[in-house]
Amino acid sequence: MDQDVGSLKAQLKEKEKEVAALRARLAQMEKSRASVPELHSDVAPLTPLTAKAALSNEDIMRYSRQLLLPELGVQGQLNLSGTSVLVVGCGGLGCPLAQYLAAAGIGRLGLLDYDEVELSNLHRQVLHGEENQGQAKALSASRAVRRLNSTVDCVPYHLQLSPENALELIQQYPPEANLPCRRLGHLDFPDPMYDIVADCSDNVPTRYLVNDACVLSGKPLVSASALRMEGQLTVYNYGGGPCYRCLYPTPPPPETVTNCSDGGVLGVVPGIMGCFQALEVLKIASGRGCAAARVAPGDMADNSPGGLFSAFDLNQAPPASCGQQLLMFDGQDARFRSIRLRPKQPGCAACGEKPSVTGLIDYEAFCGSAATDKCQKLNLLSKDQRITAQDYKSILDNTEPHILLDVRPRVEVDICHLPFSLNIPLSSLEERKSEHLRLLQGRISQLKQEMAAERRPAVYVICKQGNDSQKAVQVLEKLSGSEVDAITVKDVCGGLMAWAKNIDPTFPQY
Ligand SMILES: [Zn+2]
Repeated sequence: MDQDVGSLKAQLKEKEKEVAALRARLAQMEKSRASVPELHSDVAPLTPLTAKAALSNEDIMRYSRQLLLPELGVQGQLNLSGTSVLVVGCGGLGCPLAQYLAAAGIGRLGLLDYDEVELSNLHRQVLHGEENQGQAKALSASRAVRRLNSTVDCVPYHLQLSPENALELIQQYPPEANLPCRRLGHLDFPDPMYDIVADCSDNVPTRYLVNDACVLSGKPLVSASALRMEGQLTVYNYGGGPCYRCLYPTPPPPETVTNCSDGGVLGVVPGIMGCFQALEVLKIASGRGCAAARVAPGDMADNSPGGLFSAFDLNQAPPASCGQQLLMFDGQDARFRSIRLRPKQPGCAACGEKPSVTGLIDYEAFCGSAATDKCQKLNLLSKDQRITAQDYKSILDNTEPHILLDVRPRVEVDICHLPFSLNIPLSSLEERKSEHLRLLQGRISQLKQEMAAERRPAVYVICKQGNDSQKAVQVLEKLSGSEVDAITVKDVCGGLMAWAKNIDPTFPQY
């Protein structure tokens, strides 16, 4: 009997332990579920953000290493807690930027991105993990940032910044209010949405859109870019410095702009530039080292903590270190260069004396290119000059004699190619490189021997996504019958990525 009682007691104890463990797990899961930020698919009004009046013991512990810096100090840290930053793009630049801003204790982070996480993002967009593939980048970034610092208010926006929503999102006050600056802890004024904007996008229309929205709403714009092994950084519309339009009044021709998905980028390069962006944002947000922007103690309002004005008073703030200069980073040579920029232009369409930009416009039309980094589909050829990947598959299946010409650069052919293709890069065709033309002529002659004499040899041109192949068809048609024997040329629509998608799922996509 005693033995049974003892055994039952032991079993009960064991069960109680299990229940306690389950309770703890449940509590943990509920806590993490509660801390998942809500994904915004449109611009919603936010609750007021106020700077902390004092640092808690936990704050002091968390930020102790940076509090020791005279360049920041307690007041700088408090200023950070009252600052909201909008990060436009949660990619290669936005990830490190958001990470360091959150770690440093910024008050609110708006994280905006229209895209979802893909495997090809992970080498540079380091807030996202393998398990986040297919998830909205804004949400994935917010969750990562919250894990790092749960005191930061993260607002994920799964939307594309547009002329319709940009001002509403960024604007602190209506421009006509013409208020010099926000008083920390003082709520008499309409509550701000975002104090500083960071442009982490990688396309020209968005750069103009963000610039104009920042000029119209009087916000500093911390802008960076990265491509291949190089990066650039500038702070616009701050401390009397120029805006983006002062320097680039007209957009570049769309065909001269290369993005990361076409040109490639080494992940660490946007990593470095995003960290630089974070540094500039923190200097502006903390207001430290910007003595001119501060009010004299006698002017302090009694009801505001410390009576400090925020440092981003556009009329008073001295230039940030990158305010009137372009910082250029060359990763190949591990070298930084700094170029002094021309000052704010009185004739600037956005920030000049008589601005013509008084509202946001259609930036895709203005720039002649799309406001995304997605590959744009060119349409240079007529229908009978093109075949689909499926059509090409039947040509192969019917063993029709032909040449498959792959016009991608060598570096891409090394990644993957169809084994029977001939590689001549588009640039070599455009430059009429004689060794490549000889190579092509050799293959054409060989093909002619294999087929009926009266027919023209068929050349099918392929590239990654079907844009360069169309340009190549145009070049080859000019060469046909003059520099090489007469041929019939067609492009394979959608290129090797269409082949991988529709014909051979084992073919690598990049
Ligand atoms: Zn300007």
